[in-house]
Amino acid sequence: MASSSYSNSPCAACKFLRRKCMPDCIFAPYFPPEEPQKFANVHKIFGASNVSKLLNEVQPHQREDAVNSMAYEAEARIKDPIYGCVGSISMLQRQVIRLQKELDATNEDLMQYTCNEIIPSNTHQDNGRRIMGNNNEGVGVGEGSSLGSGFYYPSPWNSDLGYHRGGDNNM
Ligand SMILES: [Zn+2]
Repeated sequence: MASSSYSNSPCAACKFLRRKCMPDCIFAPYFPPEEPQKFANVHKIFGASNVSKLLNEVQPHQREDAVNSMAYEAEARIKDPIYGCVGSISMLQRQVIRLQKELDATNEDLMQYTCNEIIPSNTHQDNGRRIMGNNNEGVGVGEGSSLGSGFYYPSPWNSDLGYHRGGDNNM
């Protein structure tokens, strides 16, 4: 395949470096002439001789991955001269941490709702709305602990239910 696709047009690297592209050119399989920017980026950041050195150091079957990662790093470094691809990595890491916290909080909420379904000792349903007794710790809304008869659980996103809580905040 390589022999049939090898044409007289030099690879992107040799074209960029204005040199003759030999049949055994180490760049040719990874820097096709139709992607000139790929080599231009890599050359700008790493330098052609370092790229060729690195390609000679890795196994032939790993060279394509090596070139792709260098191309990615070079592009990131050109876009972000300060952080390069580290900028993307730390942004994604922050996103993972934030989403993990969100997931933990949601799981915690879910756990509490599930526990309230399973242990109906001090809870009962009234018109589909949950009524809390005085032993529900960790519900998230602390009001009502002094109300032995229970109170309407206020939805945090629905503040017009606030009047149900009247009288339980005398601390
Ligand atoms: Zn070449």
